[in-house]
Amino acid sequence: MKAIIFKGVNRLALEERPEPAITHADDVVVRIDSTGICGTDRNIYLGNFKAREGVILGHESVGVVAAVGPAVRNFKAGDRVIVNPTLNCGRCDFCQRGELNFCDNKAGSEIGVDRDGTFASHSVFPEQFLYKLPKGMEFSRAVVVEPLACVLNNAKAANLRAEDDVAIIGAGPIGMVWGLYAQRVALRTTMLENNPFRIQFARKHLERVIDSGADNAVAAAIAANGGRKFRVVVDTTGVMLERSLELVSKGGCVVLMGFNAGYKATIHPLTLVGNGIRIIGAGDYNSQIFPAAIDLAATLPLESLVTHQIGLDEYEKAFGLIAGGSNNAAYGAMKVVIRS
Ligand SMILES: [Zn+2]
Ligand SMILES: [Zn+2]
Repeated sequence: MKAIIFKGVNRLALEERPEPAITHADDVVVRIDSTGICGTDRNIYLGNFKAREGVILGHESVGVVAAVGPAVRNFKAGDRVIVNPTLNCGRCDFCQRGELNFCDNKAGSEIGVDRDGTFASHSVFPEQFLYKLPKGMEFSRAVVVEPLACVLNNAKAANLRAEDDVAIIGAGPIGMVWGLYAQRVALRTTMLENNPFRIQFARKHLERVIDSGADNAVAAAIAANGGRKFRVVVDTTGVMLERSLELVSKGGCVVLMGFNAGYKATIHPLTLVGNGIRIIGAGDYNSQIFPAAIDLAATLPLESLVTHQIGLDEYEKAFGLIAGGSNNAAYGAMKVVIRS
Protein backbone atom coordinates (compact mmCIF):
# COMPACT_ATOMS: atom_id res chain seq x y z
CA MET A 1 0.00 0.00 0.00
CA LYS A 2 1.02 3.63 -0.41
CA ALA A 3 1.65 5.64 2.78
CA ILE A 4 2.80 9.15 3.72
CA ILE A 5 6.07 8.74 5.59
CA PHE A 6 7.83 11.20 7.88
CA LYS A 7 11.41 11.33 6.59
CA GLY A 8 12.69 14.11 8.84
CA VAL A 9 12.01 17.81 9.34
CA ASN A 10 10.33 19.34 6.26
CA ARG A 11 10.57 15.98 4.47
CA LEU A 12 7.67 13.72 3.65
CA ALA A 13 7.45 10.98 1.04
CA LEU A 14 4.83 8.69 -0.44
CA GLU A 15 6.30 5.19 -0.11
CA GLU A 16 5.20 1.61 -0.64
CA ARG A 17 4.64 -0.30 2.63
CA PRO A 18 3.23 -3.75 3.36
CA GLU A 19 -0.41 -3.76 4.44
CA PRO A 20 -0.61 -4.20 8.23
CA ALA A 21 -1.44 -7.71 9.43
CA ILE A 22 -3.19 -9.05 12.51
CA THR A 23 -0.50 -9.93 15.08
CA HIS A 24 -2.57 -9.80 18.31
CA ALA A 25 -5.83 -11.64 18.89
CA ASP A 26 -7.66 -8.34 19.54
CA ASP A 27 -6.31 -6.56 16.43
CA VAL A 28 -8.63 -4.96 13.91
CA VAL A 29 -7.41 -3.99 10.44
CA VAL A 30 -9.21 -0.90 9.16
CA ARG A 31 -9.42 0.21 5.54
CA ILE A 32 -8.92 3.92 6.07
CA ASP A 33 -11.38 6.25 4.39
CA SER A 34 -10.04 9.60 5.52
CA THR A 35 -7.74 11.26 8.05
CA GLY A 36 -7.66 14.89 9.10
CA ILE A 37 -4.32 16.69 9.08
CA CYS A 38 -3.83 17.83 12.67
CA GLY A 39 -1.76 20.65 14.13
CA THR A 40 0.40 17.85 15.50
CA ASP A 41 1.13 16.59 11.98
CA ARG A 42 1.98 20.12 10.95
CA ASN A 43 4.31 20.51 13.94
CA ILE A 44 5.99 17.17 13.23
CA TYR A 45 6.54 18.27 9.64
CA LEU A 46 7.96 21.64 10.73
CA GLY A 47 10.19 20.07 13.42
CA ASN A 48 8.30 21.46 16.44
CA PHE A 49 7.15 18.05 17.64
CA LYS A 50 9.27 14.90 17.77
CA ALA A 51 8.25 11.86 15.75
CA ARG A 52 10.05 8.69 14.71
CA GLU A 53 11.65 8.98 11.29
CA GLY A 54 10.10 6.42 8.96
CA VAL A 55 6.71 6.43 10.71
CA ILE A 56 3.45 6.62 8.75
CA LEU A 57 1.83 9.88 9.87
CA GLY A 58 -1.88 10.46 10.53
CA HIS A 59 -4.23 9.84 13.47
CA GLU A 60 -7.61 11.64 13.12
CA SER A 61 -9.15 8.84 11.21
CA VAL A 62 -12.26 6.98 10.07
CA GLY A 63 -12.73 3.90 7.91
CA VAL A 64 -14.24 0.46 7.43
CA VAL A 65 -13.22 -2.76 9.21
CA ALA A 66 -11.36 -5.04 6.79
CA ALA A 67 -10.36 -7.95 9.07
CA VAL A 68 -10.54 -8.90 12.76
CA GLY A 69 -8.38 -11.03 15.05
CA PRO A 70 -9.82 -14.17 16.72
CA ALA A 71 -10.55 -12.46 20.06
CA VAL A 72 -12.39 -9.44 18.61
CA ARG A 73 -15.98 -9.40 19.84
CA ASN A 74 -17.51 -6.05 18.90
CA PHE A 75 -16.54 -5.58 15.25
CA LYS A 76 -16.87 -7.42 11.98
CA ALA A 77 -15.72 -6.74 8.44
CA GLY A 78 -17.72 -3.89 6.91
CA ASP A 79 -18.37 -1.96 10.14
CA ARG A 80 -17.80 1.78 9.79
CA VAL A 81 -15.49 2.90 12.58
CA ILE A 82 -13.77 5.88 14.09
CA VAL A 83 -10.29 5.59 15.58
CA ASN A 84 -9.42 6.72 19.09
CA PRO A 85 -5.70 7.21 18.43
CA THR A 86 -4.59 7.84 22.03
CA LEU A 87 -3.64 4.34 23.10
CA ASN A 88 -2.90 3.65 26.75
CA CYS A 89 -1.51 0.70 28.67
CA GLY A 90 -4.25 0.51 31.32
CA ARG A 91 -1.71 -0.56 33.95
CA CYS A 92 0.52 2.38 34.91
CA ASP A 93 -0.26 4.71 37.84
CA PHE A 94 -1.87 7.33 35.60
CA CYS A 95 -4.06 4.80 33.75
CA GLN A 96 -5.08 3.31 37.10
CA ARG A 97 -6.19 6.77 38.22
CA GLY A 98 -8.24 7.16 35.03
CA GLU A 99 -5.87 9.80 33.61
CA LEU A 100 -5.51 7.80 30.42
CA ASN A 101 -4.05 10.59 28.27
CA PHE A 102 -1.08 10.82 30.65
CA CYS A 103 -0.22 7.12 30.37
CA ASP A 104 3.43 6.56 31.23
CA ASN A 105 3.86 3.90 28.57
CA LYS A 106 3.02 5.88 25.46
CA ALA A 107 6.43 5.33 23.87
CA GLY A 108 5.93 3.32 20.70
CA SER A 109 2.14 3.52 20.91
CA GLU A 110 1.39 7.04 19.67
CA ILE A 111 -0.38 6.56 16.39
CA GLY A 112 1.11 8.65 13.63
CA VAL A 113 4.00 9.72 15.89
CA ASP A 114 6.00 6.64 16.84
CA ARG A 115 3.53 3.91 15.81
CA ASP A 116 2.37 3.71 12.19
CA GLY A 117 -0.60 5.96 11.51
CA THR A 118 -3.41 6.32 9.03
CA PHE A 119 -2.18 8.29 6.03
CA ALA A 120 -2.32 4.96 4.20
CA SER A 121 -4.91 2.59 2.76
CA HIS A 122 -4.93 0.34 5.87
CA SER A 123 -4.00 0.54 9.53
CA VAL A 124 -4.26 -1.81 12.54
CA PHE A 125 -5.56 -1.07 16.07
CA PRO A 126 -6.50 -2.96 19.22
CA GLU A 127 -10.29 -3.41 19.30
CA GLN A 128 -10.58 -1.32 22.44
CA PHE A 129 -9.56 1.86 20.56
CA LEU A 130 -12.22 1.69 17.86
CA TYR A 131 -15.83 2.89 17.99
CA LYS A 132 -18.69 2.24 15.60
CA LEU A 133 -19.97 5.25 13.73
CA PRO A 134 -23.59 6.07 14.50
CA LYS A 135 -25.96 5.23 11.64
CA GLY A 136 -26.14 8.02 9.13
CA MET A 137 -23.05 9.91 10.32
CA GLU A 138 -20.94 10.78 7.28
CA PHE A 139 -17.19 10.20 7.33
CA SER A 140 -16.69 13.90 6.58
CA ARG A 141 -18.23 14.73 9.97
CA ALA A 142 -16.81 11.81 11.94
CA VAL A 143 -13.28 12.69 10.88
CA VAL A 144 -13.49 15.79 13.12
CA VAL A 145 -14.62 13.85 16.23
CA GLU A 146 -11.08 13.48 17.61
CA PRO A 147 -10.53 17.27 17.79
CA LEU A 148 -14.00 17.54 19.37
CA ALA A 149 -12.90 15.04 22.04
CA CYS A 150 -9.90 17.31 22.78
CA VAL A 151 -12.23 20.31 23.10
CA LEU A 152 -14.69 18.45 25.36
CA ASN A 153 -11.88 17.34 27.64
CA ASN A 154 -10.61 20.89 28.00
CA ALA A 155 -14.11 22.33 28.46
CA LYS A 156 -14.64 19.80 31.24
CA ALA A 157 -11.35 20.80 32.87
CA ALA A 158 -12.47 24.44 32.69
CA ASN A 159 -15.79 23.50 34.28
CA LEU A 160 -17.54 25.38 31.46
CA ARG A 161 -21.09 26.28 32.48
CA ALA A 162 -24.19 27.60 30.72
CA GLU A 163 -23.77 31.03 32.34
CA ASP A 164 -20.16 31.48 31.19
CA ASP A 165 -18.97 33.78 28.44
CA VAL A 166 -16.11 32.36 26.41
CA ALA A 167 -13.30 34.01 24.46
CA ILE A 168 -11.35 31.85 22.03
CA ILE A 169 -8.02 33.00 20.65
CA GLY A 170 -7.21 31.50 17.25
CA ALA A 171 -9.76 30.39 14.64
CA GLY A 172 -7.86 27.34 13.44
CA PRO A 173 -9.60 23.96 13.43
CA ILE A 174 -9.40 23.52 17.24
CA GLY A 175 -10.56 27.10 17.81
CA MET A 176 -13.46 26.60 15.41
CA VAL A 177 -14.53 23.34 17.07
CA TRP A 178 -14.39 25.21 20.39
CA GLY A 179 -16.47 27.98 18.81
CA LEU A 180 -19.20 25.62 17.57
CA TYR A 181 -19.30 23.86 20.93
CA ALA A 182 -19.23 26.98 23.13
CA GLN A 183 -21.83 28.70 20.99
CA ARG A 184 -24.06 25.71 21.71
CA VAL A 185 -23.55 25.33 25.45
CA ALA A 186 -22.31 28.65 26.85
CA LEU A 187 -23.81 32.10 27.26
CA ARG A 188 -21.75 34.08 24.72
CA THR A 189 -18.80 33.18 22.54
CA THR A 190 -16.27 35.59 21.05
CA MET A 191 -13.50 34.58 18.65
CA LEU A 192 -10.25 36.54 18.31
CA GLU A 193 -8.26 35.95 15.12
CA ASN A 194 -5.91 38.02 12.98
CA ASN A 195 -5.63 36.05 9.75
CA PRO A 196 -8.00 37.41 7.05
CA PHE A 197 -8.97 33.99 5.68
CA ARG A 198 -9.74 32.67 9.13
CA ILE A 199 -11.65 35.79 10.18
CA GLN A 200 -13.86 35.46 7.13
CA PHE A 201 -14.31 31.73 7.73
CA ALA A 202 -15.12 32.20 11.41
CA ARG A 203 -17.69 34.90 10.65
CA LYS A 204 -19.68 32.39 8.62
CA HIS A 205 -20.09 30.15 11.67
CA LEU A 206 -19.76 32.29 14.80
CA GLU A 207 -21.70 35.31 16.03
CA ARG A 208 -18.83 37.42 17.35
CA VAL A 209 -15.43 37.53 15.64
CA ILE A 210 -12.87 40.21 16.53
CA ASP A 211 -9.80 41.07 14.45
CA SER A 212 -7.12 40.42 17.06
CA GLY A 213 -4.52 42.21 14.94
CA ALA A 214 -6.21 45.56 15.60
CA ASP A 215 -4.72 47.85 18.28
CA ASN A 216 -7.79 47.80 20.46
CA ALA A 217 -8.54 44.08 20.09
CA VAL A 218 -8.83 43.33 23.81
CA ALA A 219 -11.12 46.32 24.41
CA ALA A 220 -13.17 45.44 21.32
CA ALA A 221 -13.63 41.85 22.48
CA ILE A 222 -14.72 42.98 25.95
CA ALA A 223 -17.08 45.57 24.42
CA ALA A 224 -18.59 42.88 22.16
CA ASN A 225 -19.21 40.87 25.32
CA GLY A 226 -21.35 43.61 26.86
CA GLY A 227 -18.40 45.26 28.60
CA ARG A 228 -17.57 42.18 30.63
CA LYS A 229 -14.38 40.19 30.71
CA PHE A 230 -14.65 36.45 30.02
CA ARG A 231 -15.14 33.62 32.49
CA VAL A 232 -13.36 31.21 30.19
CA VAL A 233 -10.53 32.17 27.80
CA VAL A 234 -9.11 29.52 25.49
CA ASP A 235 -5.71 30.04 23.89
CA THR A 236 -5.52 27.71 20.92
CA THR A 237 -2.39 29.42 19.56
CA GLY A 238 0.03 28.42 22.32
CA VAL A 239 1.57 31.90 22.38
CA MET A 240 -1.14 34.11 23.87
CA LEU A 241 -1.09 33.58 27.63
CA GLU A 242 -0.46 37.26 28.41
CA ARG A 243 -3.33 38.33 26.19
CA SER A 244 -5.53 35.62 27.70
CA LEU A 245 -4.87 37.08 31.15
CA GLU A 246 -5.99 40.51 29.88
CA LEU A 247 -9.29 38.98 28.75
CA VAL A 248 -10.14 36.75 31.70
CA SER A 249 -12.50 37.94 34.41
CA LYS A 250 -12.17 37.57 38.15
CA GLY A 251 -12.98 34.02 39.13
CA GLY A 252 -12.38 32.84 35.57
CA CYS A 253 -9.91 30.54 33.93
CA VAL A 254 -7.51 30.41 31.01
CA VAL A 255 -7.32 27.14 29.10
CA LEU A 256 -4.07 26.48 27.24
CA MET A 257 -4.45 24.27 24.18
CA GLY A 258 -2.07 25.30 21.41
CA PHE A 259 1.55 24.46 21.79
CA ASN A 260 4.72 26.19 20.83
CA ALA A 261 7.91 24.90 22.38
CA GLY A 262 9.65 28.27 22.04
CA TYR A 263 7.08 30.37 23.88
CA LYS A 264 7.57 31.62 27.44
CA ALA A 265 5.37 34.01 29.35
CA THR A 266 5.74 36.15 32.45
CA ILE A 267 3.05 35.65 35.06
CA HIS A 268 2.41 37.76 38.13
CA PRO A 269 1.18 35.21 40.67
CA LEU A 270 -0.50 37.90 42.75
CA THR A 271 -2.85 38.65 39.83
CA LEU A 272 -3.97 35.02 39.91
CA VAL A 273 -4.22 34.84 43.68
CA GLY A 274 -5.97 38.20 44.06
CA ASN A 275 -8.50 37.58 41.29
CA GLY A 276 -9.14 33.86 41.68
CA ILE A 277 -7.88 33.08 38.19
CA ARG A 278 -6.92 29.56 37.18
CA ILE A 279 -4.60 28.59 34.34
CA ILE A 280 -5.41 25.13 33.05
CA GLY A 281 -3.51 22.62 30.96
CA ALA A 282 -5.63 19.55 30.34
CA GLY A 283 -3.74 17.82 27.55
CA ASP A 284 -5.47 16.39 24.51
CA TYR A 285 -8.33 14.16 25.63
CA ASN A 286 -9.06 11.38 28.00
CA SER A 287 -10.27 8.29 26.13
CA GLN A 288 -13.22 8.08 28.50
CA ILE A 289 -14.70 11.17 26.84
CA PHE A 290 -14.46 9.80 23.29
CA PRO A 291 -17.93 8.17 23.18
CA ALA A 292 -19.51 11.46 24.31
CA ALA A 293 -17.71 13.27 21.48
CA ILE A 294 -19.19 10.81 18.98
CA ASP A 295 -22.67 11.33 20.42
CA LEU A 296 -22.33 15.10 20.40
CA ALA A 297 -21.08 15.07 16.80
CA ALA A 298 -24.52 13.83 15.77
CA THR A 299 -25.79 17.39 16.28
CA LEU A 300 -22.72 19.55 15.54
CA PRO A 301 -22.03 20.40 11.87
CA LEU A 302 -18.35 19.52 12.11
CA GLU A 303 -18.08 18.76 8.39
CA SER A 304 -18.51 22.48 7.74
CA LEU A 305 -14.92 22.92 8.99
CA VAL A 306 -13.52 20.59 6.31
CA THR A 307 -12.45 22.86 3.45
CA HIS A 308 -10.31 20.38 1.51
CA GLN A 309 -10.36 16.65 0.81
CA ILE A 310 -7.20 15.55 -0.96
CA GLY A 311 -5.88 12.16 -2.12
CA LEU A 312 -2.77 10.53 -0.62
CA ASP A 313 -0.88 11.19 -3.87
CA GLU A 314 -1.28 14.92 -3.42
CA TYR A 315 0.18 15.03 0.08
CA GLU A 316 2.53 17.90 -0.81
CA LYS A 317 -0.39 20.08 -1.79
CA ALA A 318 -2.29 19.03 1.35
CA PHE A 319 0.56 19.88 3.72
CA GLY A 320 1.30 23.04 1.75
CA LEU A 321 -2.21 24.24 2.52
CA ILE A 322 -1.73 24.07 6.28
CA ALA A 323 2.01 24.30 6.78
CA GLY A 324 2.11 27.42 4.65
CA GLY A 325 5.69 28.24 5.63
CA SER A 326 6.12 30.95 8.22
CA ASN A 327 3.72 33.35 6.57
CA ASN A 328 0.54 33.26 8.60
CA ALA A 329 -1.28 35.07 5.80
CA ALA A 330 -0.76 32.06 3.56
CA TYR A 331 -3.54 30.10 5.29
CA GLY A 332 -6.13 29.18 2.73
CA ALA A 333 -7.65 26.19 4.45
CA MET A 334 -9.40 25.17 7.63
CA LYS A 335 -9.52 21.39 8.14
CA VAL A 336 -7.67 19.52 5.42
CA VAL A 337 -8.53 15.84 5.12
CA ILE A 338 -6.47 13.19 3.34
CA ARG A 339 -8.57 10.60 1.49
CA SER A 340 -6.98 7.17 1.51
ZN1 LIG B 1 -4.84 15.44 16.31
ZN1 LIG C 1 -0.66 3.67 31.21
